[in-house]
Amino acid sequence: MDKKVAALIDKYGVTERTLTFLRAPMRQYINGQFVVAAESMQVLEPSTGALLAEVPSASTEDVEAAVKAARYAFDEGEWSRWKPAQRERVLHRLADLVEENLQTLAEIESLDAGKAIEGCKAVDIAGSIDLLRYMAGWATKIDGATRPVSVEGEHFAYTLKEPVGVVAAIVPWNWPFNMAIWKLAAPLAVGCTVVLKPAQQTPLSMLFFAELCAEAGLPPGVLNIVSGRGRTIGNDLVSHPTINKVSFTGSTEVGITVGKAAIENINHLTLELGGKSPMLVFEDADIQKVVDATQQSIYFNTGQVCSGGSRLYIHRSIYDQTIAAIAERASNMVVGDTLNPETEMGPAISAGQKQTVMDYIGIGLAEGARLVCGGKDPGGEGYWLQPTLFADCDNSMRIVQEEIFGPVLVAIPFDTEEEVLALANDNIYGLAASIFTRDLSRALRLIPKIESGTVWVNTHDMIDANTPFGGVKQSGIGKDMGPEQLEYFLETKAVWIAL
Ligand code: NDP
Repeated sequence: MDKKVAALIDKYGVTERTLTFLRAPMRQYINGQFVVAAESMQVLEPSTGALLAEVPSASTEDVEAAVKAARYAFDEGEWSRWKPAQRERVLHRLADLVEENLQTLAEIESLDAGKAIEGCKAVDIAGSIDLLRYMAGWATKIDGATRPVSVEGEHFAYTLKEPVGVVAAIVPWNWPFNMAIWKLAAPLAVGCTVVLKPAQQTPLSMLFFAELCAEAGLPPGVLNIVSGRGRTIGNDLVSHPTINKVSFTGSTEVGITVGKAAIENINHLTLELGGKSPMLVFEDADIQKVVDATQQSIYFNTGQVCSGGSRLYIHRSIYDQTIAAIAERASNMVVGDTLNPETEMGPAISAGQKQTVMDYIGIGLAEGARLVCGGKDPGGEGYWLQPTLFADCDNSMRIVQEEIFGPVLVAIPFDTEEEVLALANDNIYGLAASIFTRDLSRALRLIPKIESGTVWVNTHDMIDANTPFGGVKQSGIGKDMGPEQLEYFLETKAVWIAL
């Protein structure tokens, strides 16, 4: 660990367990064993850009061993004989251990992913605990159906729900722990086994979670965690001939590659991809709710939020006052050290991501958008950005059409419901959308016409273990969370018995 990161830790203090974890050699988790890799890669702390940890860079052989272990655990190991209630209990134990280690996990995640710690605790870790418990409850409730059939003769027909098998799970860096739990809780609940690869920038919380899996008594091979590079071992994993399902969260670009690999092996596939989610603000909206929504979406997590409300369409009659209110709040956000409980926004994840965002700000200026606040490079050693708002944009601008994945909000005025609906749907993505109005009839009229996986009314980015999350159009295929997610890890077998 670099001395700049050590100084940061000294300044705010962390738990003993965080220190012990960060000081020990990092290891992958394969077949219930903590395994060192032949090669390593560096993980940087985003607010200093300095070395946080050296982590394993998995090889093709590591992936091979992890898939083999998951295969054995599914086909023949202890896990394959476990009753649903045993799976339920182990997931509850895991949830309890995550809860006991909430502070440690949030510290590790905060240092690794540049997350403001209080938000990380309240959203990333607490949300993961809820999901583990929610999916634990489903383990004992997976059932089929009896089917009256009309063919000649006497038959008893029914359906059996069976786990699909070995799941290859790939997650991005913006919600490293939370996305990983989204990917593993449902398949483990229904009896699948999992090989998970975190993003190369942010593997630490999952490497720590491996310790909790061992403590919880998860049998060997049920969950395997390999840390390494997506283009090499991520690709090895999703194209492996003996996996049964690919569950991916990340960019649309990589999702297409991953999807092709899955279809080559006729594997099940879930893709949770990018977004450019619209917020439709009508003349009767509560402006404070709009301001709050920007805080909980596009300016939360430094705008590295797939469903962040990044396109803001405001009725012309309240356009100026809404822009002013958002700019006022955004300009006063506390941007700073991620371990500081006061901090509202940390840095971007990497120098590359910061550059991408700064490039888009340059593009917005060149396209003629009006910069209302932010947009400057704050400098410093880390990957700092400012909460940024562009007004008077046009729907054809690149900053309006493309996913920036930073704290950059673009605003456009509108006059009619028909006009704003067309503007909102004029995008390749369809992950989420929100409508701000006091007119419930209008909201109910618009909801079915909006092309997105989620629609919020008078709020944005609300998520719960019991509601499905996933996109349409180029935002993906399939759902995470809610009862709907379970189906994506189940096969339905039809059984006929001639009587
Ligand atoms: P990427 O698509 O670049 O990477 C996602 C994961 O895929 C990483 O683990 C990466 O590994 C891995 N990967 C890269 N190339 C391959 C490959 N050829 N085969 C297999 N795996 C590969 O996304 P980011 O990490 O940059 O995350 C940001 C994106 O994620 C945004 O577009 C965002 O919208 C989306 N996202 C979507 C969500 C949703 O629910 N819809 C939720 C959260 C984020 P490595 O890190 O080593 O490159």
